[in-house]
Amino acid sequence: MKETLYFGPKTLAEALALLDKYRDKAVIVNGGTDIVEKLAHRAVDPEAIVYIQGIPELKTIKEEAGFVSIGGTATYKDVLASPLCGKFAGLIQSVREIGSAPIRVVGTPAGNIGTAVPAADCNVALMALGARIVLAKLGGERVVETKDMFVAYCKTQLEPGELIKEIRIPVTDAGTASAFAKLAKRKAQDIAQVSASVRLTAEGGVCKDIAIALGAVGPTAVRVPSLEKALVGKSIDACLAEVKKAVPPELRLRNPRNKQYKEAVVGVLIGRVLKAAYEELAGGGK
Ligand SMILES: Cc1cc2nc3c(=O)[nH]c(=O)nc-3n(C[C@H](O)[C@H](O)[C@H](O)COP(=O)(O)OP(=O)(O)OC[C@H]3O[C@@H](n4cnc5c(N)ncnc54)[C@H](O)[C@@H]3O)c2cc1C
Repeated sequence: MKETLYFGPKTLAEALALLDKYRDKAVIVNGGTDIVEKLAHRAVDPEAIVYIQGIPELKTIKEEAGFVSIGGTATYKDVLASPLCGKFAGLIQSVREIGSAPIRVVGTPAGNIGTAVPAADCNVALMALGARIVLAKLGGERVVETKDMFVAYCKTQLEPGELIKEIRIPVTDAGTASAFAKLAKRKAQDIAQVSASVRLTAEGGVCKDIAIALGAVGPTAVRVPSLEKALVGKSIDACLAEVKKAVPPELRLRNPRNKQYKEAVVGVLIGRVLKAAYEELAGGGK
């Protein structure tokens, strides 16, 4: 049987040096809730495992220069405990929907991005919030918007040697709110049939700006610019009426049975998150 090397770096620099050395022969293990099963079944069979949970500098959640930044090894539990992340209702609602408490203790938003499955909950909320993902490699960094991160089914822009260092969410003014919801067969420990998230800016009951993201409606999570454009400048009641009948062209559904169901529910779900975000605003939230 082939031998696999195991590394547990204690600093980001050490991790990046290892990733640079082993390139596409390395696999990053973070919380391990997704990747460990694949390693156990040899669906993924790397030369080197780089376990990054022992890197303290990646664990932090901080606010800096207009962004709340979630470190690459911060867990869902850390996010739920963070007053900074509490500013983003959509993010918190998506995290509460993930798996079960034991999964949230070890699983991470960075790992959710790494899986790139179209039903990944946190990714949809991050996309609506306009989050940016900082990718680090030996000797450099680049920043990718969440909406551009997922290039195909289970495939991200991450290149060999790179690691998700942090996720930056722009801090919004009063007058902006967010929400997330998912439809699944079970209430817990289940992946989304369809998920939706919005970030809404409204004034005097009128939509001034909106970002809508959908999950499980195609090979990747997507933003819905067609609908976003149509809603700006309309009253919230008019927006609610418009989204309920919406089947956005951004949907990429192939399976005919799935397609019929998802097209029927997607507008209802968008309406639900839009209403929740608006109610948060009306209640003085952010
Ligand atoms: C029982 C169960 C229930 C689940 N329920 C849900 C659910 O309801 N909703 C949902 O969205 N997901 C769910 N998941 C999937 C999984 O828990 C999440 O996707 C989680 O966010 C993965 O995070 P992790 O830290 O465990 O990632 P890991 O398993 O460690 O890694 C996942 C992938 O991301 C890569 N990766 C991780 N961190 C980084 C980084 N910093 N830089 C670069 N690449 C990285 C890894 O190489 C790997 O390819 C569930 C999983 C289980 C086992």
